[in-house]
Amino acid sequence: MTAEKILQIDRTHIWHPYASIVNPPPVEIAVRARGLEIELASGERLLDAVSSWWCVAHGHNHPAIVEAIRRQSEKMTHVMFGGFTHEPAARLAERLAAFAPPGLDRVFFADSGSIAVEVATKMAVQYQHALGRSRRTKLVALKGGYHGDTVGAMALSDPDGMHTLFRGIMPQHFFAEQPRTRFDGVWQAEDFESLRQIVDRHSEQIAGIICEPVLQAANAMWHYHPQYLREMRRLCDERGLLLIFDEIAAGFYRTGPRWAQNHASIRPDIMCVGKALTGGAITLAATLADKNVAGTISAGTPGAFMHGPTYMANPLACAAACSSLELFENNDYETKVRGIETLFKQGLAPLAALPNVRDVRVIGACGIVETRRLPAPDDIRRVIHKHGVWLRPFSNFIYSFPPLVATEIEIRRIIDAIAELAACPPGPVIDDGGFHE
Ligand SMILES: *Cc1c(COP(=O)(O)O)cnc(C)c1O
Repeated sequence: MTAEKILQIDRTHIWHPYASIVNPPPVEIAVRARGLEIELASGERLLDAVSSWWCVAHGHNHPAIVEAIRRQSEKMTHVMFGGFTHEPAARLAERLAAFAPPGLDRVFFADSGSIAVEVATKMAVQYQHALGRSRRTKLVALKGGYHGDTVGAMALSDPDGMHTLFRGIMPQHFFAEQPRTRFDGVWQAEDFESLRQIVDRHSEQIAGIICEPVLQAANAMWHYHPQYLREMRRLCDERGLLLIFDEIAAGFYRTGPRWAQNHASIRPDIMCVGKALTGGAITLAATLADKNVAGTISAGTPGAFMHGPTYMANPLACAAACSSLELFENNDYETKVRGIETLFKQGLAPLAALPNVRDVRVIGACGIVETRRLPAPDDIRRVIHKHGVWLRPFSNFIYSFPPLVATEIEIRRIIDAIAELAACPPGPVIDDGGFHE
């Protein structure tokens, strides 16, 4: 098919994420991808500075992952998980339980991050129900957070963010103020007061607390002090609440250590993983619970945990994730990410002096430049093609979450592109209802 034909069909029939179908923003035609590069129909190659929405940790089309999918596809691409199990699921569950924080070893496979969050929410409610606390049907979440696009996950995401339009159909939860002490700042105890007050006032309605540990990604691109997580853990223990960490963006070394919660040396009762789980090859997510959560749910009525997606534990996805986890185990990503962090800190910090830059934040392999207003779309496209670096600014953020295998030269190219973009004048005000990634 010619490029023109693809674009014509695309414009006629296809919705893109957070885009109008009548007046869509331009799209590139991706033909193949390998390592850090995405090749376009024109033959041009772009360095993927956002890991295709933070999934592609080991680089695109990693040969080991491709081979794992190919081998599995010859045996069985899918089978229902009700009444069946299979080796890829067993291998992955064993590997994931060993890779996860100790104790989080009961695995529910979901088909996307949003669904893993829905599953975690239902686990928390079912847990409290099993303990005879059936009025505890709400969670506390944080302002500035993001947990997905399905209705239940939207309802836990920033209440003033991109989903306000849907307020009328969303379940109502409680929201604590966004933690303001920066990750590397001096802990301010009053940061925790908002959350503590909500729990004091409403604890008989609350099943648990959910947050993105340390790194609030898709909504606020903000990082906060790990002491906040320790305070959360203590409060949950005192009040019989479950603590849920959404590590879908921050897990798998994105912030430095294997899990973002490791900055605080505590673990939650339930944890969601996704995105980099398969190394960006195919969709898969999981909700991990500990023995207490799993045992309590099982001892209640109905005992069964009430969820089961059609494509649960898809064998191709499980095989890809097994291979991805093997790569996470066998590479020293913690050191690699520290190297990326140092380069980002050196290269991006000076941008804070630019007139259109409000703040620069770096944690692990996350380089974030908060602008006053994003440059014009034409400037963004020009910089992308001039440098051959794929950036996807959103809200007022120019950022890079590169594949963890990026070399120093590649990181420097990304920094140069971000620097040129950050120096552009602010573009027009775009009213897109809180457009996000
Ligand atoms: C991306 C993301 C999700 C949603 O994952 P999907 O696979 O897009 O449904 C949930 N939580 C966090 C923290 C995320 O970054």
